Amino acid sequence: MTLNYGSKRLDLTLQPVSGRALPVQQGEILRLTQMEEGGQCVDFNAFNLHDHKEHMEVGAIRSTTGFRPKKTDIIFSNPPRYRPMLGIIEMPPTCVTDILGRACHATLFEARNGFEIHTNCQDTLAECIAEYGLTPDDVHASFNIWMYTEWDSAGRYRNPGPNPGRKGDHVDLLAVFDILAVPATCGSDVVPTNNYSLKPIQVEVYEASKDTSNLASRIMARAGSFRNQQRVPKDFRVSKIRAERELEPVPNFKHHFINYPLRDEYFEVDIPEREYDIIKEILRTGFGTDEGDVVRRGVMGWCTVHRARSRDWAKIPLGWL
Ligand SMILES: [Zn+2]
Repeated sequence: MTLNYGSKRLDLTLQPVSGRALPVQQGEILRLTQMEEGGQCVDFNAFNLHDHKEHMEVGAIRSTTGFRPKKTDIIFSNPPRYRPMLGIIEMPPTCVTDILGRACHATLFEARNGFEIHTNCQDTLAECIAEYGLTPDDVHASFNIWMYTEWDSAGRYRNPGPNPGRKGDHVDLLAVFDILAVPATCGSDVVPTNNYSLKPIQVEVYEASKDTSNLASRIMARAGSFRNQQRVPKDFRVSKIRAERELEPVPNFKHHFINYPLRDEYFEVDIPEREYDIIKEILRTGFGTDEGDVVRRGVMGWCTVHRARSRDWAKIPLGWL
């Protein structure tokens, strides 16, 4: 099924080493396009337009999307909200993404390359969000789009080669709720991230259409309707945002941990001799540290597979792409 977008309401060019903070409303599409040949990395931040403490958090989605979010993946906001925020509607295979590495920053260029002053995505993103009164501390870990990086088996990071991004490549992101989207053109010119030339990126915003609004609602219904995602600031035990920078304990504060303290209950389980022999046999294979541990692992592993209620929440509903 083809997804029809609304009319284009914004079209601008992000010059090299710059960026913009742009409101994108629920159901609208943000399109990022490579304007020149040679692969240009975009570092991306996003905030809830009505509550800046809720923002995209790539660290929380690594276990669902992997290190390289791609077409049909959903990008979530930070816990405790953990709400679907963006749907990746279009992304060509030549757009390699990375949510393991952070944005490049001034100290990196100073420490690694000896440049005391060098463009860097942390400061570019900070400059963009300053327009909305946010501080450099508010820049969060970026969704790195067109960033071809790799990790070896020891987790060491590297640039394996040229950025494969092609002129005309575009990425379409659907806003599941109203956001402040912040794309920045990466200024790293000493490693192959941008193929040693810094280039512009076209940014377009398409108005919500019936199709895109419906899809945003469907994503929210499927991926944002869990009970724990309904927690809003008024439900938080501390809901006032601290303005003072110095930290001090709240007088007479009492912790309320969930399910705390844990309560142990002991009960006997009858295990027929034949099954007990099997447990001992399994123990000899190295599964578990004693007979009780073998039973516990076996039962819990079985329950997780056969009894847990789970939903494939991190993908855009099929039939639309
Ligand atoms: Zn960068």
